[in-house]
Amino acid sequence: MVADNGLDGSGQPSSDLVVVGAGIAGLWLALKAARVGLSVTLIERDQIGNGASGGFLGALMPHSPERWNGKKDFQFRALVDLEDEVARLESETGLPCGYRRVGRLLPLQSARAREAALENVANAHTNWGARFSFDVANTPDKHDWPSILWAPHGIVHETLSARLSPPALIAALAARLAALPNVTICQELALTGIDHERRLARLSDGSKLPFGHIALANGVDAFGFVAQAHGVPGLELGGAVKGQAALLDAGAPPDLPLVYHDGVYVLVHQNGLVAIGSTSEREFEQATETDEQLNELIKRARKLCPLIKDAPVVGRWANVRPRAAGRDPMLGPVPAAPHVLAMAGGFKISFGIAHRMADCLIARVTDTKGPDVPVSFAVESHAAKAAQAQARP
Ligand SMILES: Cc1cc2nc3c(=O)[nH]c(=O)nc-3n(C[C@H](O)[C@H](O)[C@H](O)COP(=O)(O)OP(=O)(O)OC[C@H]3O[C@@H](n4cnc5c(N)ncnc54)[C@H](O)[C@@H]3O)c2cc1C
Repeated sequence: MVADNGLDGSGQPSSDLVVVGAGIAGLWLALKAARVGLSVTLIERDQIGNGASGGFLGALMPHSPERWNGKKDFQFRALVDLEDEVARLESETGLPCGYRRVGRLLPLQSARAREAALENVANAHTNWGARFSFDVANTPDKHDWPSILWAPHGIVHETLSARLSPPALIAALAARLAALPNVTICQELALTGIDHERRLARLSDGSKLPFGHIALANGVDAFGFVAQAHGVPGLELGGAVKGQAALLDAGAPPDLPLVYHDGVYVLVHQNGLVAIGSTSEREFEQATETDEQLNELIKRARKLCPLIKDAPVVGRWANVRPRAAGRDPMLGPVPAAPHVLAMAGGFKISFGIAHRMADCLIARVTDTKGPDVPVSFAVESHAAKAAQAQARP
């Protein structure tokens, strides 16, 4: 891997694209790059999928359809396309990913919430189009999914939301990548620094890896590398928000819609296991340990959906989500180092958008037309917001 001048024997960069981090972001990016014929080296500090992407939620939920903007449009298009993306991956690998567009139920607890929901029927029609619906009913179809007591003002049923199995999708992406001749996967190898002028990645084994482009898809750790490449190492471009989740053995029907209320979401996987998420903790000591906050979440979920009131807990999990300072995902080149690309900060929606984020970066690398990237995703937008936040007393 070492090359003193940053080039291999033929004078070319040894990898068109070095992808740092093998979570959902890095895996989609590596696959999309390999599909267009780029040579890819994927570097993972630990094992594939052991970071924030190693959980079991897999909810794919849209933003609400009012006050439409570039970010909502980006996510909407990503959620629409993901169905075909997953189907293609499943047919390439023969591995099911547990994807299903089950829709979502949102119980309404006040007259005001009902009024807003009724307005959103038209907003959804305008912004989501005729393929997906957003309806308001007076009561849930099933008395225990969610409890009728939780829906005194009715219930929204939208048909855009979906779910998948994160471990199954990660396994399918990893299997596909392993089968491609233009992809090299290095696990237990970390990026330690970037010499962007010489286009060399410094690695934890002491070697240097030349690159055409390098993409920072390394979750919460990406922000520090991006700030460094941007020339403002102290700037806090993003951070970690811990989340805890649980898995229950409920034997529930796999076609039940997701239920979401007040930060609690409940979804049924293809195998009948029910996943519950998630806490959002800015302050924590142990990133990967679960605690009393998860017990509280489970209690709330059991009340919300009595179908799972006695279901035994078979899994508890916690990790930290990457959240950019500017709140939106961070996507695109670092202005001061244009061969260094950021792909981070998907926060709570990475499983729904990572494939589209990847398309944007591949278009950048290959100098082709890709999906539009909202201005708020650009590194410079995040840097400006982070600088403002740090300047506040
Ligand atoms: C409890 C919980 C529930 C969630 N539920 C959902 C959900 O329902 N739907 C959804 O879409 N999202 C959900 N999320 C968010 C989602 O899991 C994350 O946004 C997503 O996993 C982030 O993916 P990533 O690839 O950016 O980061 P990660 O998965 O963290 O991957 C980054 C990888 O980079 C590696 N790495 C770090 N530093 C280096 C380095 N220097 N060199 C090499 N490798 C490095 C890490 O080891 C890691 O494997 C949830 C998160 C949590 C915690």
